[in-house]
Amino acid sequence: ALVRRTVFVTGAVNMKGCPTPDRGEVAFIGRSNVGKSSLVNMLTNRKSLAFTSKTPGKTQQFNFFAVNDKPDLERQIRFGDDVPGSKDRDSFYIVDLPGFGFAKVPQKQRQQWSDFMEEYFNSRETLKVVFHLIDARHGPTDEDAKIMQKVGDILDSKRTQYVVILTKADKNVKGADSEKNPGKVSKSVLEKLTETMKAHRVGYAPIVLTSAQTRLGRDEVWKYLRLAAEA
Ligand code: GDP
Repeated sequence: ALVRRTVFVTGAVNMKGCPTPDRGEVAFIGRSNVGKSSLVNMLTNRKSLAFTSKTPGKTQQFNFFAVNDKPDLERQIRFGDDVPGSKDRDSFYIVDLPGFGFAKVPQKQRQQWSDFMEEYFNSRETLKVVFHLIDARHGPTDEDAKIMQKVGDILDSKRTQYVVILTKADKNVKGADSEKNPGKVSKSVLEKLTETMKAHRVGYAPIVLTSAQTRLGRDEVWKYLRLAAEA
């Protein structure tokens, strides 16, 4: 099995708050409601990841989840199953970046978040993959374009793989409910996406179609997760 366990480690609002970079790490970013939690749950075989909150204020932190760490039996007995242990051979972190696009979030907080992301992209040496989630029905928003801009400016010069994920890809096609009949994206969405990517110098990035409902794209995404697990 690819995933033995996934536990919440910590929420960080700055670089200091991030866990020790002792293993590979992947980050998921996307606007709120894009299907990020559902996708992460699907990838890690969980029904729901604890400690994530839908309230705008609380979503402003980078949530770190440890995948496949070694359980610390003593702590488990005292605190329960969901406590982090120690690094195992194929451990990695999944980092859930705050969902953007909340109208309610004040400008100052947006700026803080954007600065943190930039610093994180710039200095987190264990960051192997950045997954950028975009709704397959709508394509990229202006904010998505800004993310691509940052990626084009920063990640391009690093050894971090950038991957665009089109979520909810079950929704476009009637009856697309199994891996044999995967969803697809409308031509106009794909065109807009590839144009936006090219305009921000990330035209090289792979595009993966996923669905948390049909589990479409799971193996494909796991190919990239392995880059972090084997780091
Ligand atoms: P987040 O805010 O990005 O974490 O989004 P959620 O994972 O909470 O999902 C937002 C909404 O989209 C929920 O109502 C989900 O049930 C729905 N959703 C998420 N993923 C999928 C998917 O793959 N297919 C469909 N049809 N709906 C999805």
